[in-house]
Amino acid sequence: MKKLNELTQEQLRICINSGTEKPFTGKFLNENRIGTYRCVRCHNPLFRSDTKFDAGCGWPSFYETISKNSLRYIDDYSLGRHRTEIRCGNCDAHMGHVFPDGPAPTGLRFCLNSVALNFKWDETGENIDG
Ligand SMILES: [Zn+2]
Repeated sequence: MKKLNELTQEQLRICINSGTEKPFTGKFLNENRIGTYRCVRCHNPLFRSDTKFDAGCGWPSFYETISKNSLRYIDDYSLGRHRTEIRCGNCDAHMGHVFPDGPAPTGLRFCLNSVALNFKWDETGENIDG
């Protein structure tokens, strides 16, 4: 797992201080290769590429996690409304939010910051930080 001083300024802003990257700017928004999306800090597996979909919201979106314990869920009342924050189930890094307006079969939209993710490409095993 990366130490705090091994994280970039943008990783600190998003993963540790629960920031949000600007929409339509993230590296993985249009990533279509087959592989596994993991926490950028600890490499905990979070999503497989076949659960990624284009939500049109400007952030990489998925409808299902790899396992029940992939993420931790926290009520977030900032911005004057209720949202559900998602954090890495292993290291507690902020990942994004989950909304109840996703596609079947789960009806969920996990809305992620690319910066919080690492993508491991199946074909080559290459690791790419967001
Ligand atoms: Zn993690």
